[in-house]
Amino acid sequence: MLNRKLCGHWTAGTYNPCADDISAYHYLVDGTGRIFKGKYKIEDNDNCYDGKYAMHCGGGNTGCIGIAMCSMAEFDLKNKKTKYPITPKQYESFCALAAYLSINYGIPNINTRIFTHAEFDKRKAKPEGKIDILYLPFAPQISATKIGNEFRKKVGWYRDQFKKGKKKFVKKGSHYEII
Ligand SMILES: [Zn+2]
Repeated sequence: MLNRKLCGHWTAGTYNPCADDISAYHYLVDGTGRIFKGKYKIEDNDNCYDGKYAMHCGGGNTGCIGIAMCSMAEFDLKNKKTKYPITPKQYESFCALAAYLSINYGIPNINTRIFTHAEFDKRKAKPEGKIDILYLPFAPQISATKIGNEFRKKVGWYRDQFKKGKKKFVKKGSHYEII
């Protein structure tokens, strides 16, 4: 299996995935925590030369799984206001999804191969980097620089749950849930 990585995002949209979101990410988590599959498969990003892949992480799409929380429309870091703040349920589902995908799609080391979009841009030293995910509306005490670590910690916890058989990724009609 290819050595993949995963980039976590918010969509900067409403609580529901729009057509652009469906093309841009492999999986989307709506405001209630339901998981929707995007247009492109994870495997489509193994080779990006054909132009048919999920374009979610500029400069880093090859072998990179993109998942996003549908939320944070019109948010900017300064005023911290949006009509669609990330919900706790959505965030849990997002972390559980990252864990599930890391186990099933070849991500051996979550500490180096799972990151937020903002962290990726920071590593690339882009001065005007992305702001997803530098703020968790339901946990404002967690500073921007700590969110990536919090995310990976939670992913690690969910990985154990999956490995112990305590969590499952299940299809429910047109969407998926982790129960
Ligand atoms: Zn992003």
